[in-house]
Amino acid sequence: MTTRASDIDRLVALDRAHVWHPFTQMADWLADDDPLIIERAEGNHLIDVRGRRYLDGVSSLWVTVHGHRRAEIDNAIRAQLDRVAHSTLLGLGNVPSIELAGRLVHVAPDGLTKVFYSDSGSTAVEVALKIAYQYWQHRGQPAKRQFVALAESYHGDTIGSVSVGGIDLFHQIFHTLLFQVHRVPTPYSYRSPSPDDPRACVSMCLQSLDKLLSSQAHEIAAFVLEPRVQGAAGMLMQPPGYLPQVAELCRKHDVLLICDEVATGFGRTGAMFACDLEGVRPDLMTVAKGLTGGYLPLAATLATDAVYDAFLGPHASKRTFFHGHTYTGNPLACAAAIASLDIFERDRTIDAIQPRITELATLLARDIAPLAHVGEVRQQGLMVGIELVTDRETRGEYPYEAAIGARVCREARKHGVILRPLGPVVVLMPPLSITTSELAELVEATRRSIIAITA
Ligand SMILES: *Cc1c(COP(=O)(O)O)cnc(C)c1O
Repeated sequence: MTTRASDIDRLVALDRAHVWHPFTQMADWLADDDPLIIERAEGNHLIDVRGRRYLDGVSSLWVTVHGHRRAEIDNAIRAQLDRVAHSTLLGLGNVPSIELAGRLVHVAPDGLTKVFYSDSGSTAVEVALKIAYQYWQHRGQPAKRQFVALAESYHGDTIGSVSVGGIDLFHQIFHTLLFQVHRVPTPYSYRSPSPDDPRACVSMCLQSLDKLLSSQAHEIAAFVLEPRVQGAAGMLMQPPGYLPQVAELCRKHDVLLICDEVATGFGRTGAMFACDLEGVRPDLMTVAKGLTGGYLPLAATLATDAVYDAFLGPHASKRTFFHGHTYTGNPLACAAAIASLDIFERDRTIDAIQPRITELATLLARDIAPLAHVGEVRQQGLMVGIELVTDRETRGEYPYEAAIGARVCREARKHGVILRPLGPVVVLMPPLSITTSELAELVEATRRSIIAITA
């Protein structure tokens, strides 16, 4: 079942004529003589219109959890289609959104009891920021209006989430549109002044946060961060112990903690949520990417009772959270998410991936870390960043124009693997359903591609 050659030509021409691709220099795209167009999928593989098969090495941009075309999720969506595809949550309820809220609260860190739906990671972050802001207005501390965020953070592409984002390449051009945030250093020791001493780096970062909160907490609503792994920054890993101390400082200074689990949620880090790795209980938590198993756009912002209760009052008090997206709580998406959580429970997915995580660590240490142009290999669970350098001794950075990561990922296609880089960092983020032999295939294709491009 492949598309006819004349149809492929028509699709390529139509795509070039009308589709504007995200995070893509369209001049490069238009010049590509073999654009990859996916037609279908099986398990952990994507299949293009020419019938070529590729291992999905980045889970279709970090979303696919149990593989493509999982019968349980397919069937749940079909069954929901026979009931209703969409019905609003503005003033009404719908069955799957109610069931899912209960299930999410059950798997989330303790204390997160309320679920506000939206439809992307960016909107989930916007919701968290607006709730945190409004919360302090209702609590009679209207001066607490500012946010703290980490250097190198990524929280989405809408203006509020870009404001708290810290990746200059993406965010700098919009700076006059953005609100000011307090930026604190991130414990990325490889490029810190103490590269061989992650603990010194962590303590410097915590001191900086403590200093800021000590003097400014009366004006600060919340600290927002990606717990344990800063994904889009290039898979920057926070050493264990950092996150609980951040939570402690926020508590001490009466600042809300927002954990953005859009990338890290649903098993990627080896636990259901990154917060679970260290027993951290945020005040607000955002989820999206893996929520529906990678099927449909759905996001949620989870909140504690304490946050939620600040919005209760008589109608005339105007304590309402005046925010909502048209497709909030879409029943098809919620049905997919419930089916995904059912698989987590029934297959004990979190337990099942532990051996894969160990196997991946072994393969990376043996086959990737020793390569001449690999500066650092970072892994947390099934999230991996391989930072390429011109020189291991000096940690020399490749220039932007070299597009080193992009070229390695393009090369990997020749070995039947789809990857997507973050600058000079090659990312591996396979579905949780990846098998032992597929993992070996993934790492071998990555090794050969890095050698081919950097040698
Ligand atoms: C991807 C991502 C987002 C944005 O999610 P979208 O669904 O693309 O809007 C927000 N936060 C983090 C940590 C992400 O990785």
